[in-house]
Amino acid sequence: MITLGAREHHRFEAAGKPFVYLVPSAAIFALDDAADAILRTLSERPRTREELVAELSARHDHAELDDTISELARVRAIGEFVAPERESAPPPKIFPLAPIESIPPFPLTTMVLNVTNQCNLSCTYCYEYSEDKIVDTENGKQPKFMSEATARQSVEFMLKESGDNKVAHITFFGGETLLNFPVLQKTIAYARQRGAEVGKDVDFSLTTNGTLLKPEIIEFLAENRVGVTISIDGPREVQDKFRVFHNGTGSYDVVAPKIRELLKRHRSRPIGARVTLTSGPLDIKRIYRHLTEEIGFWEVGFAPVTTSPGRGHAISEDGYDDMLAQFRDLAFEFLEYSVENRHHGFSNVKETLEEIHKGMSKAFPCGAGLGLMGVATDGDVALCHRFAGSDAHKLGTVADGIDRNVQFAFLEKHHIANKTDCSTCWARPLCAGGCYHEAHTRYGETSRPNLHYCDWIRGWTDVCLQIYGELSEKNPGFLAQFDEPMAAERVS
Ligand code: SF4
Ligand code: SF4
Repeated sequence: MITLGAREHHRFEAAGKPFVYLVPSAAIFALDDAADAILRTLSERPRTREELVAELSARHDHAELDDTISELARVRAIGEFVAPERESAPPPKIFPLAPIESIPPFPLTTMVLNVTNQCNLSCTYCYEYSEDKIVDTENGKQPKFMSEATARQSVEFMLKESGDNKVAHITFFGGETLLNFPVLQKTIAYARQRGAEVGKDVDFSLTTNGTLLKPEIIEFLAENRVGVTISIDGPREVQDKFRVFHNGTGSYDVVAPKIRELLKRHRSRPIGARVTLTSGPLDIKRIYRHLTEEIGFWEVGFAPVTTSPGRGHAISEDGYDDMLAQFRDLAFEFLEYSVENRHHGFSNVKETLEEIHKGMSKAFPCGAGLGLMGVATDGDVALCHRFAGSDAHKLGTVADGIDRNVQFAFLEKHHIANKTDCSTCWARPLCAGGCYHEAHTRYGETSRPNLHYCDWIRGWTDVCLQIYGELSEKNPGFLAQFDEPMAAERVS
């Protein structure tokens, strides 16, 4: 006799109804009363079909239970119960047997070009300059600025490595990106021309602290449809706490008018703010309001600071709880707006909704080393922009290409199947262990899962599932915007 068990899932409620997120398939289903009762009962312990039907028949008729059991089995929410010993077989290795030459290279979607490793600000928490830095940008071997020749070589590298992709995405990064505006300008012209010659569109974006924006630069960015993300932490008192010039003065009064000018002039693409959240009392709603309503950003994304736990600006456990409560508030505000098809700019929730909608089940936390790579000022290619220039995380060079052996060894080691701590976590399809750079900073090892923030990740994923469930009931049309394939890798 077959014993039935519930497969790995996360139950949540939205719009007054129960829903289930199925971990193996990353699919979401609304549950009716019978399905909910079956899943709850089997989650307590496995039962035979007959036991299950007998137990639930007081509240549901037999035919309904039979149909629902079959339907839940069809979507693989339940199935034959497998004893834990059989489940605990060693995790499968990826790429175990195929010779490396036989595996097609992954196309590169996004290349992040670190055009300089110098910065005119001295943000206390910066991963590039603080005590947590990986690469010595002051005394190391890397040039301070990328040359035009290296930038051209990088463009050729990108066009080649993007394979059959019709669009190649280039993101300019720093240090402070605009310190090397002349090279950025020439690279865009060169990439446009070379893209046209090889039949590819090239899309450009950059991240900047905003201090060097001026009319000619703004004009250029608008004319060339360059996507812009501004690193800014909020109103004056928040921004000036950490985002200071080398002499210690705050940067708010310098950047605010420049950003307003940029937002007025650059209308060809939406412009976003990227906020680093640190310890101390956080008022996320106030930061959001200031940046959207008072400054005029289209969207705002928040990221907790990446740092070792001992630093003064590191977010404590209580800080993560507080951050989650505030994210939740803002996410429900996003829901209210979205139900009425009004724009809301809280980009964290939108990004997670998109991943949920696409049924993403990640083998790797992000595109680093796969569809996304970072190029250092000397042309070394690394996992992502945060590792650019680090010999320990180098995958190749723009001149010689990617060392496939190194890349595959990295991917094999970092696959979710090798993160045993994550193997029973329901949030792993979306988290997959979290950022390698965060893990390196916290634990000194990119392959370690970021177990210090699991509660936060699971809490936030649960909030986003609720928002998704609510939208699927109240305005499913809103979710249709996520039907398109992802355009580019996210650069965090
Ligand atoms: S790091 Fe934590 S939250 Fe993320 S998948 Fe692993 S166990 Fe889950
Ligand atoms: S999530 Fe971390 S490792 Fe991945 S691209 Fe972003 S900074 Fe790099």
